[in-house]
Amino acid sequence: MLLFGDYHTHTIYSHGKGDIIDNANVAKQKGLKQIAITDHGFDHKLYAVSRDCIPEMKEKILEAEKRTGLEIFLGVEANFKNLDGEIDVLPEDLEFLDIINLGFHRFVKCGTKDKFNLFYPNILHIKTKSQIQKNTDMVIKALERYPIKTLVHLNYGFQVDLKKLVPIVLQKGTAIEINGRKNCLTDKDILLLAEKGVKMILNSDAHSPQQVGEVNVGLNIVTRLNIPTELIVNLDKNFLKKEI
Ligand SMILES: [Zn+2]
Ligand SMILES: [Zn+2]
Repeated sequence: MLLFGDYHTHTIYSHGKGDIIDNANVAKQKGLKQIAITDHGFDHKLYAVSRDCIPEMKEKILEAEKRTGLEIFLGVEANFKNLDGEIDVLPEDLEFLDIINLGFHRFVKCGTKDKFNLFYPNILHIKTKSQIQKNTDMVIKALERYPIKTLVHLNYGFQVDLKKLVPIVLQKGTAIEINGRKNCLTDKDILLLAEKGVKMILNSDAHSPQQVGEVNVGLNIVTRLNIPTELIVNLDKNFLKKEI
């Protein structure tokens, strides 16, 4: 099995230690053909990538592609902002984003109501049926509103009802990530996703160049559980296509 690409990596533009070329060089050494640069979304309070940096990032991507021969995609790891399913991506951002990964993070700019309805309960690990339902509805609304390619580190820091997400992720073709650093999906979850035919993706969530392509956590799980390779969108095949 060949890991074709790693579609969740960070750089100095948010919370990562390396530059775009550093991630690309490591990816090349490890035999990957594609990577995505997905720095933390625009409304993260501590590590947000700035929209002002996008032109510079695009230039660096072109240069890194020339030097490594890899295909490199510019994306973002977007944040949920409220229970209405709003995320920190604006319509005009879609022009330069090749991929949107979406995950729950604390420390996101939001209104007072959202602090009490979404952030505080989850930061305090409140896992009542009602909170799980609210979280799940929020994810569904976000998937309906935005072209989300991947839901990243689900159930990390907030809990959803995975079963209820299945119809929408199947309808939208969204991949569920098995995160290389913070996987919170159980064997039972992954078997459920596989049984329903949901696409999954193995990403590193690299915060340093050395971690790019490190997806052993996910690879070990899918191998142990005999998950069909066809369901893993970045094994032996490309997840994204470059638009010409
Ligand atoms: Zn994250
Ligand atoms: Zn990340």
